[in-house]
Amino acid sequence: MAKVPVFKAVNVSKTYILGDVEVQALQGVNLEIYSGEFICIFGQSGCGKSTLLSIIAGLQKSSTGEVYVRGEKLSELDNNGLAKYRRSKIGIVFQSFNLIPSMNILENIALPLTFARIGKSQRIARAKNLLETVGLAKYAGHSSNQLSGGQQQRVAIARSLVTAPWIMLADEPTGNLDSKSANEVMRLLISLNRKSKRTVILITHNPEYLDYADRTFFMQDGKVVKIQVNSKVKSEDEITSTSHISNELKSVASKIGAVSTTEENKPPKKTKSHKMSQDSRPTDEVPAEMASNDALPEDITNEDNVDDNVETDKE
Ligand code: ADP
Ligand code: MG
Repeated sequence: MAKVPVFKAVNVSKTYILGDVEVQALQGVNLEIYSGEFICIFGQSGCGKSTLLSIIAGLQKSSTGEVYVRGEKLSELDNNGLAKYRRSKIGIVFQSFNLIPSMNILENIALPLTFARIGKSQRIARAKNLLETVGLAKYAGHSSNQLSGGQQQRVAIARSLVTAPWIMLADEPTGNLDSKSANEVMRLLISLNRKSKRTVILITHNPEYLDYADRTFFMQDGKVVKIQVNSKVKSEDEITSTSHISNELKSVASKIGAVSTTEENKPPKKTKSHKMSQDSRPTDEVPAEMASNDALPEDITNEDNVDDNVETDKE
């Protein structure tokens, strides 16, 4: 029997209407993503990456086309169904951490469970478990503004995992972080994929991170212009040292103007007229050593909602 993709987009387009102006954010996107894959979405600012992710997440609807989640049309879910889908099947993290400063770290992580009507003791137990998973157990009672950016993003990831989703969507989660913190967050995402088989879809501007993905979708002007299969996927341990993006990926990335010229990452000749946006730049060089070695999540595999168990309901 053919494998059913976790996500399938068929001819998905999105047009934003701003007064008299129409913005074609997505134009006929077709893709399939399978259970347990680590997918990167890569492309210049404004090419439609966030729009695509938010449609997959059920946060907004496509203008035309259809998204199938495990073979079921997302468009056929009513508001309750969509809310349930977002709450229990997917975890999302963004560039901004969106933590609530008046609540401590543990309460922030437990928050989504309140909406899922789960009792307090269970909420706290799960939140504690995840705080340990992301290596921040000792900060349980702290407020988010007492934590570094990297630590806050790890808390945000823990919060996104508290309902035990089977898919992790991350929209430039390392965009606000220094390279060391960014690597810690990246290492956590990779381990979530490798150790607990969660499907991860990551939007990143860092070409080095593409080496950790099974496949990369390169986007340009609202379209997926190339899907690159990574024949040599790196393990999360390799992120601790300075890594070099493979030549193959480098060549595709520079062809679509998605990376800028740096010492390490020069396109073969002078690029034509590709204007680089601010946030298309690769991040700083990866430092040789990593700070903590404590962010490796293994315990979340005990959760009851890992990918293949899609029937599980949290309510
Ligand atoms: P990316 O994440 O690749 O930077 P986006 O998906 O955010 O790209 O945006 C794609 C295009 O759609 C851009 O031209 C952007 O300005 C436009 N856009 C995004 N969100 C909106 C919105 N809510 N209203 C109007 N235009 C939008
Ligand atoms: Mg974006």
